[in-house]
Amino acid sequence: MAVQKLDNFIRGVWRTAPSSEWFESRNPAHPDEVIGLFPQSGAEDIEAAVHAATQAFPAWRALGLVKRAEYLLRVAQLMEEDREALAQIVAREAGKQINEARADVVEAIHTAQYAFAYGHLGQYGRVLADEVPTKRCYEVLEPRGVVVAITPWNFPVALPFWLTGLSLVVGNCVILKPSELTPLCGAKIAGYFERVGAPPGVFQVLHGTGEAVGAPLVAHPHTHVVLFTGSYEVGVQIKQEVAKHADKVCTIETGGKNAVLVMDDANVEMAISASVLSAFKTAGQRCVTAGRLLVDHHLADQFADRFVAAAQRVTVGDPMDEQVFYGSMINRQGVEKGRRFNDVARKEGFQILLDRNNEPPPTPDGYWLRPFVYTGAWRHDSVCLTEEAFSPHVAIVPVRGVEEAVEVYNDTKYGLSGAIITEDYRKARYAEEHMRCGIFYWNLPCIGAGVRLPFGGVKQSGNLIPSAAGLIPVLTHPKAITYNLDTHIVMAQGLKAEIR
Ligand code: NAD
Repeated sequence: MAVQKLDNFIRGVWRTAPSSEWFESRNPAHPDEVIGLFPQSGAEDIEAAVHAATQAFPAWRALGLVKRAEYLLRVAQLMEEDREALAQIVAREAGKQINEARADVVEAIHTAQYAFAYGHLGQYGRVLADEVPTKRCYEVLEPRGVVVAITPWNFPVALPFWLTGLSLVVGNCVILKPSELTPLCGAKIAGYFERVGAPPGVFQVLHGTGEAVGAPLVAHPHTHVVLFTGSYEVGVQIKQEVAKHADKVCTIETGGKNAVLVMDDANVEMAISASVLSAFKTAGQRCVTAGRLLVDHHLADQFADRFVAAAQRVTVGDPMDEQVFYGSMINRQGVEKGRRFNDVARKEGFQILLDRNNEPPPTPDGYWLRPFVYTGAWRHDSVCLTEEAFSPHVAIVPVRGVEEAVEVYNDTKYGLSGAIITEDYRKARYAEEHMRCGIFYWNLPCIGAGVRLPFGGVKQSGNLIPSAAGLIPVLTHPKAITYNLDTHIVMAQGLKAEIR
């Protein structure tokens, strides 16, 4: 069967990149299966997309909040109709187990609906009081212009909507650079905007690598906002580039070394479930994956036995299999990175409690990693305890009480997500207040995302929380407007207005 070729989506049409270079997307569970061929875009494509977005911006901005929002509603409706087919693409292209793939699509639908609802609230800004009662003051939120959204592979449908839904509704034009590992998902999203008849140039998709497409879009003088989700290393490069441009803004949402804190009074059943979900869903390839389980020493041995037993039962297999707990790794590099972390745990002298990687792989040529669990005292200088493994690799670290648990939680350069399992509201409250993170859970796993809530981290996990209504200050600039309703000029702060 001929492999499908999918072009870039520029100015409302599917346009082949002049470079005529194509790259493959393959199914990571069955790498023989080529999912599609996509153009490696270059300077001409980037210029064409930025030009189209710049031209589309004035009319899109003038259309008004309510009408723009309707496009997002229609896109959400199309995704709803396509839900299962789209989930299957996510499973095939990203290796996410089908139930997780469905959740990815539902999150995208909810995010598009959220963007629509925001538009229908009709909030362009605020009316504010002035010191002088005869003046009327208000702020209007103006769209900034051309938004570049650069997304990772692990939420290939949901994340583009987190970054683009509100961007469009508030009046910006968007160029999406999806991960080169999940380009079909990016192309499907472009297809929905085509089908709802979004004006040409308002929503565009450019395929290719980060270096060839992402970086030039970030540096382009006519792009105004960069919304990036991905690794810290790339995020920092983006911030450095954006700093060179006076009025360009960016958000970076990056990795984490998240943890579940298990207190001595915890409901142990709940602690085990929360820990297994946090450590192993998506094969540990979530930004919010828990690489650390910080367990009160009174409970540590009992917890370790039960956690290892549960990790033994975790099923790994074909992403299309409804019964497996998680699917494949994204690619060979993902497997190698996970193995490196497992080796580091050995070299650093930790006690290995479980390594299931000698079990036969679900498919001979796919990319697989099975659960790896180790234990030992907290060490700030340990690489495996403090760096993001992005794999099913987790440590059980004994701690003494909630204060020490929180101290250990905070002792990495990241600060994305964390959870505490306790029946004691005082401990939960202490952790909530003192954990330096952007996302906090009590008696839940540390994975998951609410589309109405902020989602993001502190320290090296990112800045500015590019999600839900938190995105608005990034996507818009407030214009301060003052009307004088009097027949003469009265200045504030007692400033004299007479000319003499
Ligand atoms: P990545 O940084 O390798 O790639 C992310 C995107 O950036 C891709 O589209 C890539 O092409 C692009 N890119 C790469 N180099 C670039 C450059 N120099 N300039 C501009 N763009 C460039 O990340 P990944 O491997 O796709 O995803 C995994 C990482 O993403 C993990 O660190 C994970 O924690 C993080 N992540 C964070 C969140 C969050 O919300 N905090 C969510 C999901 C994933």
